[in-house]
Amino acid sequence: MRAVGAVVVLAVLCVCDAVRFGQLCSGNPANNRRTSDSWGQGHYGARRGTRVHAGLDIVCSDGAAVYAPCDVTLGGRLTVYTDASLCFKLFYVNPDRTSGSVRKGERIGTMMPMQSVYPGITSHVHVQLCDKSDPTQYF
Ligand SMILES: [Zn+2]
Repeated sequence: MRAVGAVVVLAVLCVCDAVRFGQLCSGNPANNRRTSDSWGQGHYGARRGTRVHAGLDIVCSDGAAVYAPCDVTLGGRLTVYTDASLCFKLFYVNPDRTSGSVRKGERIGTMMPMQSVYPGITSHVHVQLCDKSDPTQYF
């Protein structure tokens, strides 16, 4: 789960009525988004060859602390929610733990060493809603 190169997915169920997420990553208080680098673009709907980028990339330096963007219930790595509440997944985060509840703003994990996997990329947390709809409105 902590192996470099593995895609770590942290499923998160947002249990608050968040219409706007709080700071996701230390060093990026404005939740600035990945724009464009040699690996592609970070907005929802960006092209990935024949596929479409189904999430939004928030800039986060390798090794930075990652915070809960709202009050969340952690759902492990593989849990898929069918709950009506907002459900999203965070990619490239090494979670401190994978179950239990975390308050908005509390640390939930550490940004993976993305540069060792994708040299030159803008290191980022990939935020993807469980239904793969556009998460941009929450940022
Ligand atoms: Zn992404």
